[in-house]
Amino acid sequence: IIRANKMNKFFGVFHALKDIDLTVARGETVVLCGPSGSGKSTLIRCLNALENHQKGELEVAGVQLTGKRREIDMVRRKTGMVFQSFNLFPHMTVLENCMIAQMRVKKTSKEDARKVAERFLARVHIPEQAGKYPAQLSGGQQQRVAIARALCMSPEVMLFDEPTSALDPEMVREVLETMVELAREGSTMICVTHEMNFARKVANKVVFMDQGSILEIAKPDDFFTNPQHERAKEFLAQIL
Ligand code: ATP
Ligand code: MG
Repeated sequence: IIRANKMNKFFGVFHALKDIDLTVARGETVVLCGPSGSGKSTLIRCLNALENHQKGELEVAGVQLTGKRREIDMVRRKTGMVFQSFNLFPHMTVLENCMIAQMRVKKTSKEDARKVAERFLARVHIPEQAGKYPAQLSGGQQQRVAIARALCMSPEVMLFDEPTSALDPEMVREVLETMVELAREGSTMICVTHEMNFARKVANKVVFMDQGSILEIAKPDDFFTNPQHERAKEFLAQIL
């Protein structure tokens, strides 16, 4: 469902992504890790065209993202993104946050949008929060709203960029549990995270990046027990 072939990204003269080769199959969960500044966010932002790349090819959910810009709307519809900061609309209730894009982008009727929103709020285990405003929720609850909001658009791929790193420790678990459930239900997920237990539990593969390159792609067990690159060993020594 994702195919990157020798993809490169530059910010001016800075070479942020170098010859990225990555294939992700439908239903797979991929964990992207690596030191700060290695290009994880940049890569994930290329996948939904928040950034465009300059060289090589990229195809996401059947959409060609190379060269022409006009398929950006299409790829945004097919991907759901969850950020470190939850980015909810503060002046809308939880339910409205989950309805707005369905109505604006997909032209879903208000009644149908409401039903879908209620279904996904139940799926992330916070149906009772529907009438509240984001500021009235805990961080973990807000992040689960952000996940539900993305799911309401029935994306083919879910992209997560450090979804738990802004949360207090006791709230990390509830968000991770939601993500584990999604992975087990067969969602296709690309997750930038340093939560290695999550990776061990559900990732089909771990991608290790350093200085804009993918150095290693391995099954979680192999990566954690026997990383091939010196840089990966150093990285694991720091976070485990
Ligand atoms: P972190 O773990 O800290 O989130 P990361 O792996 O997500 O790091 P990126 O945010 O992808 O790293 O950044 C990769 C590199 O690209 C960094 O050196 C960063 O300074 C640079 N970079 C990112 N965005 C821009 C931009 N808009 N303009 C110029 N340089 C950028
Ligand atoms: Mg980042």
